[in-house]
Amino acid sequence: MRDFGGLARRTPREVVRPAIDREAAAAARRGAVPRGRGHSTGGQSLTGGVSLDTGGLAAVHAIGADRISVGAGATWRDVLAATLPRGLAPPVLTDYLDLTVGGTLSAGGVGGASHVHGTQACNALDLDVATRDGEIVRCSPALNRPLYDAVRGGMGRHGVITRATLRLVPAPRHVLSCKVSCESAAELLGLQGSVRADHLSGQAKAAEAGRRYELRAVLYEGEAPPPGLPAGAEAEVERLPFAEFADRMRPDVEELIVLGEWDRAHPWAMAFLPGPRAAAFIERTLDATGPADLGLSGLVLIKALAVPRTPALRAPADPVLFGLLRTASPGYTPAADMLDANGRFLAEATALGAVPYPAVPYRASC
Ligand SMILES: Cc1cc2nc3c(=O)[nH]c(=O)nc-3n(C[C@H](O)[C@H](O)[C@H](O)COP(=O)(O)OP(=O)(O)OC[C@H]3O[C@@H](n4cnc5c(N)ncnc54)[C@H](O)[C@@H]3O)c2cc1C
Repeated sequence: MRDFGGLARRTPREVVRPAIDREAAAAARRGAVPRGRGHSTGGQSLTGGVSLDTGGLAAVHAIGADRISVGAGATWRDVLAATLPRGLAPPVLTDYLDLTVGGTLSAGGVGGASHVHGTQACNALDLDVATRDGEIVRCSPALNRPLYDAVRGGMGRHGVITRATLRLVPAPRHVLSCKVSCESAAELLGLQGSVRADHLSGQAKAAEAGRRYELRAVLYEGEAPPPGLPAGAEAEVERLPFAEFADRMRPDVEELIVLGEWDRAHPWAMAFLPGPRAAAFIERTLDATGPADLGLSGLVLIKALAVPRTPALRAPADPVLFGLLRTASPGYTPAADMLDANGRFLAEATALGAVPYPAVPYRASC
């Protein structure tokens, strides 16, 4: 068995696919390692022991005016399919919808709206957890708080989330998305701090003369670009139905599958950098990272002010999520060298006060 990272392989002794909480609890008692869709990249969902596939725990249990209760194996696509017909949506969505609720709550779940609403883990109202004692325990800010704090961002080490109640907010019908080119990381981060938008994200991209940065600022129900964009800034503006915007990665994913890039190894590394030192660190890191070191379809993500606010995922002040999402494409830097570069990146970032994301970047036993 492998994960999206493709760097670690383990053959589980047994795979269980519980359909009800009691079966999940029995497996958790035997030390089962939960696995959503296996989109983690450091072997965190793999085991040589009992692997617990959460795909049988994917039901929508209840939906109300401001919340939904779902099985942890449901994907964010499943959640949206249930909420959008009622004009509702979770406040924070991941860039890619085919991740599971249990998987991203266990990582944290950062999205373009995290500068407003925190992580997805911040928006889980309560959770049912199959503990290592074989019990099903409900936890929330008011109930069994230590367990609630341990499992959100805990990467499955403190039990198996079987069900989650998630906060919902009114969904916009359409969005206005603006892309603006920036000269430097400092300019991009400055704009992410000052533009008033519902969704903010950033990337560094190779350009003819070195590199450029790109800000994406999105206003829900917007008719004009978000306030705070510099006057005269040349923006690429697009008006999209919210459902299409939420599923914006789908065409790229389909192309990556056709190109074979989706199945290659993905040595990814991400960290929450301390805001005041982020721009210089990003420039320094990218000076040492050529296009060959990212692969044919590699990406560089930069997202300011994604405050995790979950104890298991302690971020520095004014955090900036910086991600080197590498693909080991044929003819590019080999995966082993990419992994070495990630080791150096995480060591330097940590020395600066950064916190790796996810909190368990690589499962040592793989
Ligand atoms: C294309 C792509 C896009 C991504 N986009 C984002 C993004 O926008 N924002 C973001 O924050 N992350 C993103 N990620 C990373 C994502 O958060 C992690 O990959 C996470 O692993 C979710 O994937 P999954 O549901 O397949 O979980 P898995 O990879 O299967 O599991 C992740 C971890 O959680 C544990 N786990 C899984 N289910 C449960 C459960 N029910 N209870 C307890 N522990 C459990 C596993 O043991 C493992 O340690 C992306 C990853 C990919 C590949």
